[in-house]
Amino acid sequence: MNLKRNYLLLTPGPLSTSETVREAMLQDWCTWDRDYNEGVVTPIREGLLTLVGVDKQEYTDVLLQGSGTYCVEATIGATVRPEDKLLILANGAYGKRMAQIADYYRLNYVLVSLRETELITGQIAREALEAHPDITHLSMVHSETTTGLLNPIEEVAEVIKGKNITFIVDAMSSFGGIPIDIKKLGIDFLVSSANKCIQGVPGFGFIIAKKDKLIATKGNARSLSLDIYVQWETMEKGHGKWRFTSPTHVVHAFYQAMKELDTEGGIETRYARYKKNHQILVEGMRKLGFETLLPDEAQGPIITSFLYPTADFDFADFYARLKAKGFVIYPGKISDADTFRIGNIGDIFPADMEALLQAIKEIRQ
Ligand SMILES: *Cc1c(COP(=O)(O)O)cnc(C)c1O
Repeated sequence: MNLKRNYLLLTPGPLSTSETVREAMLQDWCTWDRDYNEGVVTPIREGLLTLVGVDKQEYTDVLLQGSGTYCVEATIGATVRPEDKLLILANGAYGKRMAQIADYYRLNYVLVSLRETELITGQIAREALEAHPDITHLSMVHSETTTGLLNPIEEVAEVIKGKNITFIVDAMSSFGGIPIDIKKLGIDFLVSSANKCIQGVPGFGFIIAKKDKLIATKGNARSLSLDIYVQWETMEKGHGKWRFTSPTHVVHAFYQAMKELDTEGGIETRYARYKKNHQILVEGMRKLGFETLLPDEAQGPIITSFLYPTADFDFADFYARLKAKGFVIYPGKISDADTFRIGNIGDIFPADMEALLQAIKEIRQ
């Protein structure tokens, strides 16, 4: 069998995983077996809490089948009741997706939609809350993968402190790759998924929650399969048992990925690697005549948007040639400017970034 990589995925989810993570999937497992539930699922659930450095009495977590959006939807759908009012602060496609979810659930909500290059600051949150004093829940994205922008959740956390507002953070593309002090920030629900900075493969997501807040969602969900309370209760009582068919292979890959995160040195070390990848990429791209969409102050280390270097830049051709050289990148995702994106996360190292730059240089010659 040839496990050699087909290409390097410079896209933030799915992303390039290590060979050992891919190898971890090469068996079949029983979904209700004790070895699986107690030996794999439970250590994952405990490991996630250890990663964020929180106490099991105060915080808990639940794993849920599906992609990251399923978990965002499950969280919003189970926490925001008809009598509540949700404030969504958005500056990209993933923020706006929360509003789409709110529409489907016919929630009472306010969407503050900023430009895709503008940060969600404490001031933005303060003004929105002054205009809508009856807000009970606030949701926002940490790392907006649409552009690569990193929102200062600390500022928003400071504004809502002591206000009895449930704080929901989509940390999909940042959790595991950027340190997040969930307790200090008063985050009640943090949502992420298997195929981002933990460097697993797609198939499930997870929600790390303040335990009392999660328990309080009992009976609220308006979707059977997305009922995070019942999913959580089943996992608690069944010692890691999933309610419906568990993505066993994906879960094994994730467990291996968590061990590799630990071996690498934890979140801080991974964060340093991603920052280094990003720095090499941006410096090299600037030398090759590309400009970033975002100013450096707004840019996070996860993914970077570059403007087309010329009006007649042929992205499809650029993409195809890079792919032929073993690198797969992302098209842009915004309407205001012609961009493409390059991810810095996954089993990607500075040498890979150097090789990518060399490939781009050859293509552009
Ligand atoms: C990846 C991602 C999601 C989830 O997207 P899926 O396609 O459902 O996995 C949500 N929010 C952000 C910020 C993301 O990067």
